[in-house]
Amino acid sequence: MQMKLKGDYFGGQFHLPTSGGVQEKILKRCPGDLDQVLWEACISYEHIEAVVESSIKGFETWRKMSFEARIGYLKKYQEIVRAKKDDIAMALALEVGKPLWEAKTEAAALDSKVSVTITDSFERIKQETIKDVMPKIDGHVVYKPLGPSFVIGPFNFPCHLANGQILSALLAGNSIIFKPSEKTIYSAQLMIECFHEAGFPEGVINFINGTGYTAGKITSDKRIKGIFFTGSRGVGLKILENTHKDLNKLVALELGGKNSTIIHHDTNISHALPELLRACFLTSGQRCTSTSMILVHRKIEQEFIQKFKEVTEKIRVGHPLSSPDPFMGPLIDEQAEKLYFDFCQFGKQEGAEEIVSPTKLDIGHKGYYVSPSIHYAKNPNLNGKFIQEEIFGPNCFFVPYDDIEEAIKIANCTEYGLAASVFTRDSDIYKLCLRDIDSGLINLNRSTVGATARLPFGGLKNSGNHRPAAVSMIDHCVGTVASLETLDDTSSKISDVVGLKE
Ligand code: NAD
Repeated sequence: MQMKLKGDYFGGQFHLPTSGGVQEKILKRCPGDLDQVLWEACISYEHIEAVVESSIKGFETWRKMSFEARIGYLKKYQEIVRAKKDDIAMALALEVGKPLWEAKTEAAALDSKVSVTITDSFERIKQETIKDVMPKIDGHVVYKPLGPSFVIGPFNFPCHLANGQILSALLAGNSIIFKPSEKTIYSAQLMIECFHEAGFPEGVINFINGTGYTAGKITSDKRIKGIFFTGSRGVGLKILENTHKDLNKLVALELGGKNSTIIHHDTNISHALPELLRACFLTSGQRCTSTSMILVHRKIEQEFIQKFKEVTEKIRVGHPLSSPDPFMGPLIDEQAEKLYFDFCQFGKQEGAEEIVSPTKLDIGHKGYYVSPSIHYAKNPNLNGKFIQEEIFGPNCFFVPYDDIEEAIKIANCTEYGLAASVFTRDSDIYKLCLRDIDSGLINLNRSTVGATARLPFGGLKNSGNHRPAAVSMIDHCVGTVASLETLDDTSSKISDVVGLKE
């Protein structure tokens, strides 16, 4: 696959930087085959102003369009993105390193998300009327777009997450600038090309390549009214620091997780095993919802851990395009690989026993291939780095428990609160988890990964700032306006005003 970068997109066209304007070059190799150079990006700051101005112009056109017209554009985009799904999947597989079968599920989600946005999300911003909210007066709630909005994406789902945010922002009447992760520019560019081909008016869609500097410039620009960020907690905090004095701006943060699963003693083990295997190791553990801690009831700990170890050792790690399908591909880059091994070391230093050790794998291609690993801690150090921080690699660790309160306490011990799950046949246990685990997603007999676009998706605590995405993303793309309305302009008289002189 030839990956040709086209530069930044504004004013309805792609623009490559001028040779004198290049600040930084990024050479991207396939993480699953380091001999394969995918592209070289020339990062320039010279288009930042033009991109922002284009989004302002685009907003003026777009906000005046009817919902029907906007939906028409979204549907055109849907047709195009559907037709290009194989190219997008291939780009995702090569850039991120996720197996092609998995990349195809991300590419297919771009199309289905259009339908969910139009059917489920749209309902949430339709004008509401409350008849006779006061005598002879009707009340209306009207939802207005925020303005030019900035979407910043992470590397692990370069298209799907931004797509969801962009679609909601667009339907609500905002123009957008999208900055993908500098690790996955090409997949994101393919998605932007679909918007381009759908013929959106000039300036409604904009795209910029860049790193933290570019993102920082745009987030702090007063003309940008919405920021939709998905990424790490550390960068989320920087964005807050950069924007907190601008009360004009809405900032929605979707951050990391340190997710727990509780395996109660009545769990159907054969159901829980494949669920948990996917939750811990899909995308090589590089999902915000990946399960990290597994709290297993002491009565079944030995049997469960033994069986989990056996299936983990069967995981096929391979090149994203290899056949038969691998379960997981490489990690994204050298730094991710180093962090993975470092974390496993912290685990050992903090008293966790290695049940399956992490190893660097030689699969015949040069790449960031590692084996999944499993740790076990009878008395974990709840304040240690291993338990507190997001690993973003294929590791999980077991902690045994006797009573459910103890398991919930451990599940709640981290600063994060994104996803949790409980496997049990006892509805009281589930109700207790639902009530007491501080997490934005809590599933019963379903693992922490594989959320639906039709429910809210977002974390509590340090996993976000209470602006969940997915179906409820659209709630944050609008300002709420209340309006009192009466057609009776005869009932008020000046003599009704109290306190006037005769
Ligand atoms: P990251 O935070 O390193 O980067 C995310 C984006 O932020 C990139 O586009 C990057 O260029 C940009 N960025 C860097 N510095 C910035 C700055 N100063 N201001 C604004 N933007 C800046 O994250 P990543 O490594 O790409 O992705 C992994 C992280 O994302 C994990 O923590 C994961 O849990 C999280 N994530 C969360 C969700 C969710 O929905 N909650 C989904 C996917 C990933």
